[in-house]
Amino acid sequence: MDVTKIFGMNVFNDAVMRRWLPKDTYKVLKKSIEQETQLPVEVADVVANAMKDWAIERGATHYTHWFQPLTGITAEKHDSFISPTLQGGVVMEFSGKQLVKGEPDASSLPSGGLRDTCEARGYTAWDCTSPAFLKEDAAGDVTLCIPSAFCSYTGGALDKKTPLLRSMTAVSEQVLRLLRSLGNKTTQKVTVNIGAEQEYFLVEKELFAQRLDLIVAGRTLFGAPAPKGQEMEDHYFGQIKDRVAEFMKDFDKELWKLGIASTTKHNEVAPSQFEMAPIFTTANIAADQNQLVMEILQKVALRRNLACLLHEKPYAGLNGSGKHTNWSLSTDDGVNLLEPGETPHANAQFLIFICALIKAVDLHADMVRRSAANSGNDLRLGGHEAPPAIISIFMGDELTDILEAIAQGKKAKSAVATDMKVGVDTLPHFPKDNADRNRTSPFAFTGNKFEFRMVPSSASISRPIIVLNTVVTEALDDFATRLEKAEDIHKETASIIKDTMREHGRIVFNGNNYSDEWEKMAKKRGLLNISSTVAALKVFLGKKAVSIFEKYKVLSKEEIRARYEIYLGQYSKQINIEANAALDMVRTLYIPAVVQFTKELAESIEKLEAVKVSDEVQRDLLAKVSAHLKSAYRSTQKLEKEREKALKISDCLERSEAFRDKVLVVMTKLREDIDTLETLTPRRLWPVPTYADLLFKL
Ligand code: ADP
Ligand code: MG
Repeated sequence: MDVTKIFGMNVFNDAVMRRWLPKDTYKVLKKSIEQETQLPVEVADVVANAMKDWAIERGATHYTHWFQPLTGITAEKHDSFISPTLQGGVVMEFSGKQLVKGEPDASSLPSGGLRDTCEARGYTAWDCTSPAFLKEDAAGDVTLCIPSAFCSYTGGALDKKTPLLRSMTAVSEQVLRLLRSLGNKTTQKVTVNIGAEQEYFLVEKELFAQRLDLIVAGRTLFGAPAPKGQEMEDHYFGQIKDRVAEFMKDFDKELWKLGIASTTKHNEVAPSQFEMAPIFTTANIAADQNQLVMEILQKVALRRNLACLLHEKPYAGLNGSGKHTNWSLSTDDGVNLLEPGETPHANAQFLIFICALIKAVDLHADMVRRSAANSGNDLRLGGHEAPPAIISIFMGDELTDILEAIAQGKKAKSAVATDMKVGVDTLPHFPKDNADRNRTSPFAFTGNKFEFRMVPSSASISRPIIVLNTVVTEALDDFATRLEKAEDIHKETASIIKDTMREHGRIVFNGNNYSDEWEKMAKKRGLLNISSTVAALKVFLGKKAVSIFEKYKVLSKEEIRARYEIYLGQYSKQINIEANAALDMVRTLYIPAVVQFTKELAESIEKLEAVKVSDEVQRDLLAKVSAHLKSAYRSTQKLEKEREKALKISDCLERSEAFRDKVLVVMTKLREDIDTLETLTPRRLWPVPTYADLLFKL
């Protein structure tokens, strides 16, 4: 496989645009992409036509506005290029209007009250900054996909992309202001860069198909631990088995064709768990690409008789999956603003950006936490496998030392740090590698970027990026205002660092985030520990969240309200599906299997009695099994009741609280009995694949 030949072959990228567009059109389009301005209609017509010709040459018959509604997955409605002629034939057409705007009757997608179902019109608008691409399906159909935003008739955002683009604009504006206040005259544009590392599990398709819980809920709702888990630490970075290597090769190829720079692949901690990472790119493109990564993972898996699990916690007792989201800011003159520089000036600037992150994440730790909340992550965060639910920042000792020394106006303790005047002296060099040793921190500075490690594996990365961009925007706005007014930039920089460390230094923690001491210490520092999605979502409607989103025009009050209701609704629906699946499996699979076992035991006891042989073991087993069977049966009755009660609650917050505090609790109790029964019942009677089957058969 010649990667250089296939890379980007299905993307309407810059090279393709150059080849297929008249020079003038190319220039106008390029300008509109770079400056994010609207494309004139005449130009859009020419672009659409070229796009269509290119797509048709590659076998396309249809096009779609490809968008990301609040379901968390992508949506597409295919329309063909055909247009009838008077002679009874067809020609292939695609106009600028069709390219720029779509009107899918998308009334069944979640709107959270932003429009009535009868007001079916939703609009999709081309995001020309993310390149169009071709999707091929197994039937050989090729569809031209146009990355789009999705909004209501009145312009309310109904998707993940719209606020993401807004937040990118907001942060860029404030970064520019800050850079200007520090004397920068050249930078014109600032980009948010994102690299999202995707974790996932693979499982044999045939076994997957026998587990209703995996099929409908994405995770195992039952299953006794396998004799072996991850304790041997032999899977992480272990040799990749041929079966998996074949899958990864296929997967990479599909990604490369779509211009997704997949670069890293390896075995993860849990058995049958893996990771891929692409080379970072602009935030909205990275978000689009990650949606494709998740889609292609599942598609390629099926092709190879596997199933891919994206859930945050597919198996109890083993590490779950996350999606480390690496975030940084760079300028159009090629500077990574989170990279310490060579000159005093560059270093002062670097420290200001670091302080902006510290301030933003401390002030809005609740929002940051909220941005990573979903029902799957509730099972993972704080489980000594992923960061705790407490937000803190890992800064590394050297950098922390430097910041503290400046804040206290004294010599830094660290061997590399000296007595510094910010913006005058050069920042002492601190070893980059040191900065990445702590894998327990939810939010880590890793030398030239921040790595947000709480992000759920199955979710869109847009939500956390939107929040990060927005909270940092506010801090940068504040700093820019101070620096613009300052008489002495160096002094003001030092005092910004001082104020930040004094007011927000509590958020910096370089120790072990998994330890119990940290939980206590964090409480003393006044840091929040929000342990559930429901509690985290409440933050959404808080005054602070609403005002910052409104101030930077990322989300309006109505849009926030809609999201709050949709996300809470999704939580309740997810737990309800889990409860349904649990009831179904227990009633139709587990109970009948155990009843059969009790029957066999009873028969055995009868027969043993007849021949006067001791039936002690059989009686003991029967008593044990019957006790768990009875307990499980009672739990199913209770679960049914609690589920129905919860569903009747009309307030979306109260309903989700009931699902969390009542339904989930009974489900956990039910699982305990079933998992114990699994260890007592003959394997030949057990109706579903066990953990050992699911985890060690690849
Ligand atoms: P890890 O040690 O966490 O596996 P890597 O250095 O391999 O880290 O990087 C992980 C991800 O971070 C990759 O997707 C990479 O492209 C991305 N990344 C690297 N530099 C940056 C940056 N400046 N901004 C955003 N993401 C970045
Ligand atoms: Mg990482």
